[in-house]
Amino acid sequence: MFNLILFGPPGSGKGTQSERLVERYGLVHLSTGNLLRKEIADKTALGLEAKRFIDNGQLVPDAVVIGMVDTYFDAHREAKGFLFDGFPRTVAQAQALDDLMSRKNTSISLVLALDVSEDELIKRLLNRGKTSGRSDDNDEEVIRKRFSVYLNETRPVALHYNALHKFQEVKGEGSVDEIFSGLCEAIDKLH
Ligand code: ADP
Repeated sequence: MFNLILFGPPGSGKGTQSERLVERYGLVHLSTGNLLRKEIADKTALGLEAKRFIDNGQLVPDAVVIGMVDTYFDAHREAKGFLFDGFPRTVAQAQALDDLMSRKNTSISLVLALDVSEDELIKRLLNRGKTSGRSDDNDEEVIRKRFSVYLNETRPVALHYNALHKFQEVKGEGSVDEIFSGLCEAIDKLH
């Protein structure tokens, strides 16, 4: 299996690039943000719980997210690989993912991190908020909160994978095509 984590701060373009990457490499897309938004739209108990955190720019509790990932993984046994998008977001999630992978006799192949400046990120998110209907993209205060959560809780995930020699930074500014090429180049070097 080829299992890729696409890493980066909110607004770094993970969703956009993920769509292209899953198509090019035949991977199953696992976006915890998308899964959570689906739970919210379906008004499930999990969705109702998650919404309170998301609307405040906070992370949804690890146990909730890890359970969701477990279920999704088991529902796609035929996958030749996964693209993890927006997950893991804490070191505890990274450890749970590593455990899950080894229970399934596989592992994370590579972590690619999109590198984008904070000014550019805020600009993109506020722009997205105008059209996406996402309540967490409309409010600059919520966006700033998400950045501070990213720095404090998610950034350490990079160190976790760096220590395993699986972490690589890729340019996240420029055209969508240019960024995609950079990602593909890093992946193709491994194949
Ligand atoms: P973005 O990366 O643009 O902020 P996402 O769609 O990945 O957007 O996530 C939106 C929100 O969903 C996050 O701010 C967070 O509240 C919640 N969320 C998504 N993935 C996770 C996760 N792995 N762990 C905890 N919370 C998550």
